[in-house]
Amino acid sequence: MTNIAFIGLGNMGLPMAKNLLAANHSVRGFDLSEDARAALEGAGGQAFTAIADAVAGADVVVSMLPSGAIVKAVYQGEDGVFKNAKAGTLMIDSSTIDVTTARDVAQEAKAHGFDMVDAPVSGGVGGAAAGTLAFMVGGTAEAFSKAHPVLEPMGAKIVHCGASGNGQAAKICNNMVLAISMIGVSEAFNLGRSLGLDDQTFYDVAANASAQCWSLTSYCPVPGPVPTSPANNNYQPGFATALMHKDLGLAMEAVASSGANTPMGHLAAEIYATMNDEGHGNVDFSGVIKHLAGSL
Ligand code: NAD
Repeated sequence: MTNIAFIGLGNMGLPMAKNLLAANHSVRGFDLSEDARAALEGAGGQAFTAIADAVAGADVVVSMLPSGAIVKAVYQGEDGVFKNAKAGTLMIDSSTIDVTTARDVAQEAKAHGFDMVDAPVSGGVGGAAAGTLAFMVGGTAEAFSKAHPVLEPMGAKIVHCGASGNGQAAKICNNMVLAISMIGVSEAFNLGRSLGLDDQTFYDVAANASAQCWSLTSYCPVPGPVPTSPANNNYQPGFATALMHKDLGLAMEAVASSGANTPMGHLAAEIYATMNDEGHGNVDFSGVIKHLAGSL
């Protein structure tokens, strides 16, 4: 049994913490929301109203928070993790945040004598509940091997992506491709329809030709060909446009700081920003097919 402090018990954090409890770890939680704290207590964990109390005696701190600014405040603040954790505590931040902040916070962890990894996830709320998340981990080999058994009850795939920040880098690069490919597949269906091509017929051709990709054959943006895709459920998420918009914003921050040339990524970020700003943040990101057709 490991004593784990879990900070951020929201849509993702709570089910992740439950899987740690189910694996017989002790979980001491902290969240600003009283409801979130009560939900952890209901699941058999202990909840606290101060970070210092949650991390007291913890061997590992796991966090699942909304943004880089909040991650900084939680770890680096006067009442935060670094000031209150005992020597030797391992820190795992699973929030999706910008690469620069992830590297800064890990650097400060090191200055305080702590090992820290960034370990953002894909798999969404369903994966969090099922314990089948994919973790993309950045940090030293030693920190990765310490983090691995803690992540295991929460994940089906745990990949070491390199030094600090590289977990975040892998996540935003993956999601940038996903956004571009979903828009590409959607444009092709829309063009095909306008030329009188039947959706299923185009699918049967493309799924077995060079346009084959995950956005087409696992998450098809038109109803019919892939019965499990959100298109068959009126574009209920799935993976909400608001979250894709957030991840593309992080990707574009990384583009700006690195100088990489990503014209398609820029355009995809603009398209999802418009869709989000027009009030469709709760629509699955494959609903971009309707946004592009002007029918959302
Ligand atoms: P959420 O808003 O449901 O949960 C965030 C929790 O953090 C809330 O309970 C909130 O009260 C708490 N919180 C906020 N500020 C805090 C602070 N200063 N101290 C302690 N607690 C604080 O968000 P979520 O959907 O659980 O997402 C969490 C992270 O996971 C985000 O970075 C998100 O991008 C990432 N993510 C989400 C999904 C998804 O499908 N929801 C998928 C992959 C990654």
